[in-house]
Amino acid sequence: MVRVNSINFNVNFNGKRQLKDSQDPVISAAMEELKNIKFDNNDVKYVKKLGAKPPFKNGQQAYDFIKDNDIKVKFMKLPSDDIHAQWDVTNKTIKINERYRDTKSKAVILAIAESTLHEAGHAKDLDGDSSIQEEINCLSLNSMAHRTLNAQDPGIFETNDANILKNGVNLYSSMYFNKDLSGLIEKVRHSYGALPAGDSKHPASEFARAIKNGEPNFVVVA
Ligand SMILES: [Zn+2]
Repeated sequence: MVRVNSINFNVNFNGKRQLKDSQDPVISAAMEELKNIKFDNNDVKYVKKLGAKPPFKNGQQAYDFIKDNDIKVKFMKLPSDDIHAQWDVTNKTIKINERYRDTKSKAVILAIAESTLHEAGHAKDLDGDSSIQEEINCLSLNSMAHRTLNAQDPGIFETNDANILKNGVNLYSSMYFNKDLSGLIEKVRHSYGALPAGDSKHPASEFARAIKNGEPNFVVVA
């Protein structure tokens, strides 16, 4: 079956939920998707057992946080194609890699919504610092969101092979929700291993310490 993977950008700006500085139609579409993201209760239990503390209960909370704090969400040039999104505390901006600016792919728009959710998790503490624990917390958000979105539209994320999917949201969700956590541990250690395991706002869990110490055989004990 041929999948329809483009959407119309007829985003309405009715009512009080309008966001400033996100008139870009792709960003607007992603923000609308963000608002509707819910997490499965079992997924929440799982990530908490793993040691994550999800910064938001759903996409609406993240959306409201962005709006209430006048955080901008913008396409901008990022240092590499492997950086899909970034929180810039100085400019209070969630930057989305500009290579996706003109995308017509629904899957990429959902990936931008997930990435915005992840970066909003970083923004929530209103600082520009991070730690392995903070990353685990933020990665739990996009990983849970990905599962909900995929369940709502099975196969949607296979309709496009953009880097933000292949090496971003698809990959992290499958590694996070895997009995064998070695892939996630190695990937997070590779990307964020130089950061401290935890920080004063995000005390390190055993899982964060296992990543910091390079213990790929970490298992979740019930
Ligand atoms: Zn992050």
